[in-house]
Amino acid sequence: MPKQENGQREDSLIQNDLSESFEEEVRAFLGDEEKLHLFDDLTKVNPVTTRTVLKCLQARYRVNLFYTNAGCSLVALNPFQPFSCLYSPELMREYHVALCPQDLKPHIFAVAEQTYRNVQKQMDPVNQSIIVSGESGAGKTWTSRCLMKFYASVAASVISPKGNETVERIERRVLDSNPVMEAFGNACTLRNSNSSRFGKYIQLQLDRFHHLTGASIQTFLLEKTRVAYQAPNERNFHIFYQITKGATAEERLEWNLPEGAEYRWLPNSERNLDEDCFEVTRGAMFHLGIGRATQSNIFKVLSGLLHLGNVQFSNPLDESQPCELEDKTKEFVRTTGELLQIPTEELLECLRIRTITAGKQQQVFRKPCSRAECESRRDCLAKVIYARLFEWLVLVINENIYTEPSVWTSFIGLLDVYGFEAFPENNLEQLCINYANEKLQQHFVAHYLKAQQEEYAAEGLQWSFINYQDNQNCLDLIEGNPLSIFSLLNEYFRPCILKAALKECRLNRASNTDLFQTRIEKALSSNQCLSRDKFSKKPNFIISHYAGKVCYQLAAMVEKNKDAVPPELIHVLQTSKDPLLQKLFPVTENNQNNTKTQNRAAVVTVVSKFKSSLEHLMEILGRTTPHYIRCIKPNADCRAMTFRREEVLSQLQACGIVEAITISAAGFPVRIPFQSFTERYELLRKSWGSSKKRVWDKSSSHPAEKTGETAVMGDDRAPRAAVLEILQGALRGQSPAQ
Ligand code: ADP
Ligand code: MG
Repeated sequence: MPKQENGQREDSLIQNDLSESFEEEVRAFLGDEEKLHLFDDLTKVNPVTTRTVLKCLQARYRVNLFYTNAGCSLVALNPFQPFSCLYSPELMREYHVALCPQDLKPHIFAVAEQTYRNVQKQMDPVNQSIIVSGESGAGKTWTSRCLMKFYASVAASVISPKGNETVERIERRVLDSNPVMEAFGNACTLRNSNSSRFGKYIQLQLDRFHHLTGASIQTFLLEKTRVAYQAPNERNFHIFYQITKGATAEERLEWNLPEGAEYRWLPNSERNLDEDCFEVTRGAMFHLGIGRATQSNIFKVLSGLLHLGNVQFSNPLDESQPCELEDKTKEFVRTTGELLQIPTEELLECLRIRTITAGKQQQVFRKPCSRAECESRRDCLAKVIYARLFEWLVLVINENIYTEPSVWTSFIGLLDVYGFEAFPENNLEQLCINYANEKLQQHFVAHYLKAQQEEYAAEGLQWSFINYQDNQNCLDLIEGNPLSIFSLLNEYFRPCILKAALKECRLNRASNTDLFQTRIEKALSSNQCLSRDKFSKKPNFIISHYAGKVCYQLAAMVEKNKDAVPPELIHVLQTSKDPLLQKLFPVTENNQNNTKTQNRAAVVTVVSKFKSSLEHLMEILGRTTPHYIRCIKPNADCRAMTFRREEVLSQLQACGIVEAITISAAGFPVRIPFQSFTERYELLRKSWGSSKKRVWDKSSSHPAEKTGETAVMGDDRAPRAAVLEILQGALRGQSPAQ
């Protein structure tokens, strides 16, 4: 496809992707196409259908209107090209000082300002949250960053409450957490060159003067496998490229990173990205209290991981012997040992030998690992170091931006989580991500419907509250008690339950995967959200999510859930002389006693951990007033100003906007402002009432008759009465035709 010039529209890409009659149908509904972009709230579109919504969004996108209100949500289309005027400090101020920011053009700043005012109004609940969702590359992180800048600008405090001689401003530190988290947690993927590989919830804490006093960050499910495996055409975390490209000559010597050296875990390093800037990360780390010496220690350990990635094994001639090291990689083991401060022999031993403790005497047996096992141990070592380093960084950042609850009185939470995922192959990671999206969708539907029904009540409409269908069934299937996919996955760590399950399935010699599949089918088949792809040869199950069906592969799911780290690896890391590794892998009492107790204590499965952190998050969100920003990626190629209807449509469906439209259709899908209703159906009223025109008495809720030529209906109450009159006229069978 031809590369597109900045700003040039590419309407040829707006394919005839929906039905051919699309244009006609939409025109019939919406009338004048020239004016479509004027709909700044999708609930004003009449009627609200997927097509009319889509058409309006497209019309707005064409004229650089990227934000549109959709009831309690804001739809944000990614322009894929910078529009600095859209995020300027002047515009922030405009929204901040506006009498009613919602009357200005739809914008993330209007949402931000609204939350900021709600906090000041001390409404109930006082705390606010903004849930930013969308698929990878849709603009969630960009949006969260802009929101943080907005709050940092309007809620800036005078000096940091932790003020020391450098008098660092707290908002600067809060903003500095972004480049650090992104350097360590983002990577270039096929879908986004700066893709966040973790979920993030940040709470911005405000004092009683509504100044920003601090923040706290919670992260979810870092994709640590990326350290040791990068899909074709993808990259490792940005930080690895930053150190290899940005280290000084002295640092290269210290970290053993000669210029031009090649690392297996550093693919596509010839691609230069804006995100490769080491200096920005270092500066931000420094502001966050991570001094130069600690930084150097971190980068040395990361260099150690790059060297570890180059270690490769070959099968021994004699199978009873440990795997050989490939000749050219011997040097890499030595440098890894040096950089991680672990003796080479011990490092090699933990990678190549498994120890088994057995018998009453607790005898220890040493068993050489196969080549595949050695490689898996090498990868596991890198993953556990990186995951703990990331956790520790979040901890340190929090220590430097967090203030005691006594200092702040309210907070605004920003949630930037991965959107719904459905790949050709899906496994535990997608199950967790889609489970999180189901939870957020449930929260959205409950809130949206509640808000909508409250609005009906406020309008004085006769309305009996309807019970709505939500996605509880799907959530029961995934996380319910006592039987669900999560509980069955966790069975593998409760030997007595597993034994009973094995007996029940008469599958004593079955693999984990076979047993899991049988258990799922036996225990959960009554749930209508569950099915199976019978044509696939691979064991699988399908979940009908609110956003579509996803087929999950069962192979390795049980092992992924266990996320086991061989105790020998932890042990060797605990013996390291490196100060950072000593912090990341402290020696606990359990370790010193014996490995058996350690093994038993260590079973916290991935799904249990994820479920409990998500439940905690939902609890927090439940106590806040939520605001939703739905980011939409107008095309998968990240091309500027290109709007592909089919792609937008599937995202509108997946993010639940379409669902919300259906909900509103169950209520009053057609909304006509009093003014236009009375104007449009004036005839009905005239035929029923006297021939005199009326002027409404603004002080009274009842219309007062008065002779005059024109009816004045500017007041909200008066047209309401007129509406009633018209409806009564219609009920008496008086139509304009009569
Ligand atoms: P996500 O976090 O949803 O995966 P990002 O926020 O990283 O996506 O956005 C992907 C890319 O899209 C950004 O790197 C940026 O180039 C572009 N982008 C996103 N939002 C905007 C915007 N409002 N204006 C201009 N470019 C944007
Ligand atoms: Mg992101």
